[in-house]
Amino acid sequence: MQKIPMNTPLVEMDGDEMTRILWKYIKDELLLPFVDLQTEYYDLGLEERDRTADQVTKDAANAIMKYGVGVKCATITPNPARVKEYNLKDMYKSPNGTLRAMLDGTVFRAPILVKGIEPCVSNWKKPITIARHAYGDVYKNTEFRVPGPGTAKLVFTAEDGTESVQEIFRFENEGIVQAVYNLDASITSFARSCMEYALNAGEDLWFATKDTISKTYDRDFKEIFEKVYEEEYREKFEKAGISYFYTLIDDAVARIMKCEGGIVWACKNYDGDVFSDMLSSSFGSLAMMTSVLVSPKGYYEYEAAHGTVQKHYYRHLKGETTSTNSVATIYAWTGALRKRGELDGNEELVRFADLLEKATIDTIEDGTMTGDLARITTLEAPKTVDSLGFIKAIRTRLESYIG
Ligand code: NAP
Ligand code: MG
Repeated sequence: MQKIPMNTPLVEMDGDEMTRILWKYIKDELLLPFVDLQTEYYDLGLEERDRTADQVTKDAANAIMKYGVGVKCATITPNPARVKEYNLKDMYKSPNGTLRAMLDGTVFRAPILVKGIEPCVSNWKKPITIARHAYGDVYKNTEFRVPGPGTAKLVFTAEDGTESVQEIFRFENEGIVQAVYNLDASITSFARSCMEYALNAGEDLWFATKDTISKTYDRDFKEIFEKVYEEEYREKFEKAGISYFYTLIDDAVARIMKCEGGIVWACKNYDGDVFSDMLSSSFGSLAMMTSVLVSPKGYYEYEAAHGTVQKHYYRHLKGETTSTNSVATIYAWTGALRKRGELDGNEELVRFADLLEKATIDTIEDGTMTGDLARITTLEAPKTVDSLGFIKAIRTRLESYIG
């Protein structure tokens, strides 16, 4: 068989633990036999990050800015226990955080639907994509415990020294106070990313805040979205037959439960944190979720939404068989290959990505799956396979589709 050629390399970012094992299985079984795979390889495994003092992560981000599309394996975010375990020189920042900061993006997460893994919300027939703003708000707050009677004030000092002061509250007793901020530039690029994504997906875009209560802060979000929509996207949306819909966050939650899915739901940072966990658990499993970072400058970074599955890795190291679900990592590759194909006008590559996804879904729907899905499926007598067995089953099916 002639392998599918690639015109431009993908930025490949290897990772850690069990997902690093899956990464190699996926390449060996599902990619290299079929595609003349071109990648620029960056090893974001913790040892290499330590050896290079995390320079390798920055190099990878720069490569994504050069080539446009990257695919990333899950990586360890060091904490004190990891510093000890790997004898690290430093407690490096999360690689995802570094990539997001350098690429200036929004993270989109969508469930992968298969028959036999039913959402808890029975009217959800199509996926719901969460677009989470990953900057500011309560994640960058300043908080203060008020010890007793006194007055809390907000003070802004301009560059020229002029002060604006607003009273927050006159405390008669103990309490708490908190300040948060955001930037128009960050909200604007969030709005653009969401609108680009909705256009790409051909799905309606919803956005919600609490602007009736938060008349300056949340209203700023609402107005920036409206401005970006009116000035840059209205025509494109109308042409694509999709719509932009703004409502209050509590109304959005009520409507989400009643809708049939097939929408992109843009969320402020905290809302996105909370509702993406609600969505992924009601759609079935962390490993059945796609995740892509989209930057308004046209860079794309695909990854799995879950971590490095540490417990399975330790079992793997002891020589025990594992049944780790590789679907999210396979979809990181198919997402990146499809996007690369679209950008390069490489139809064969796009078709390959489609077929690999179809082979993955059909394998599960035919009853062959990893343990995490076998435990929750409504299919009768599912066949539970190990990590490599699952990937080999997909390969057999993929060969028949391609042949
Ligand atoms: P995790 O890797 O998401 O796994 C937590 C648990 O979820 C697993 O023990 C397993 O449950 C289940 N699970 C997750 N993915 C699975 C899969 N593909 N197949 C089957 N089961 C799966 O989280 P963690 O073990 O707490 O974190 C490990 C490391 O991942 C941490 O060092 C963290 O820093 C890193 N992390 C990285 C990313 C990223 O790079 N995007 C994201 C989150 C966390 P059972 O044990 O019940 O089978
Ligand atoms: Mg969370």
